Amino acid sequence: MKSFVEEVTATPGGENLNACIQCGMCTGSCPVASDMEYPPRKIIAMVRAGMRDEVLSSNSMWHCLSCYMCTVRCPRGVKPTELAHALECLANQHGFRVKGTRTLAFYQSFVSSIKGYGRVHEFGMMLRFYLSIKSYLLANPLATLKMLPLSLELFLHKRMPLLPKKVKGRDDLSKIIQKFREIKGNE
Ligand code: SF4
Repeated sequence: MKSFVEEVTATPGGENLNACIQCGMCTGSCPVASDMEYPPRKIIAMVRAGMRDEVLSSNSMWHCLSCYMCTVRCPRGVKPTELAHALECLANQHGFRVKGTRTLAFYQSFVSSIKGYGRVHEFGMMLRFYLSIKSYLLANPLATLKMLPLSLELFLHKRMPLLPKKVKGRDDLSKIIQKFREIKGNE
């Protein structure tokens, strides 16, 4: 059976984990480190220490904004952004659910839109996302209302059409997704 560190380095995005020298540049560069249970440098140390459950149940990777500041500044090419997404994949695969994060619901809405139309239909994606987090929205109605001016602007500038457009060759895309699932299922 693979150790946790082997599992992470075998996941796309986690390959360079062992190059880390714990300099802390990533944590110092991260704009959301203070929201994370464990900032980037620490989460890497925890992975290497085999703290599987603590890492996969933490909220750290789900807070990553993909700004890539850590990645461009890391002196060892670790790519902490990619690592965060690798940890999200592993947490999801192993059934770890983090209370209070809506990132997974957002990803699922995004993927659903791609699978349905071959491209993102922003209006449908956001509708699905908001419906999937409705308990959060009912508890925080102002969060939805704050988005209305932006939604209206996008709509008026034809950046958020109400009806989706499908790409050509959507069947081919479905076959690619199906093939990927088969490969992943056989791993
Ligand atoms: Fe490790 Fe790179 Fe972060 Fe430094 S910046 S702690 S080398 S991941």
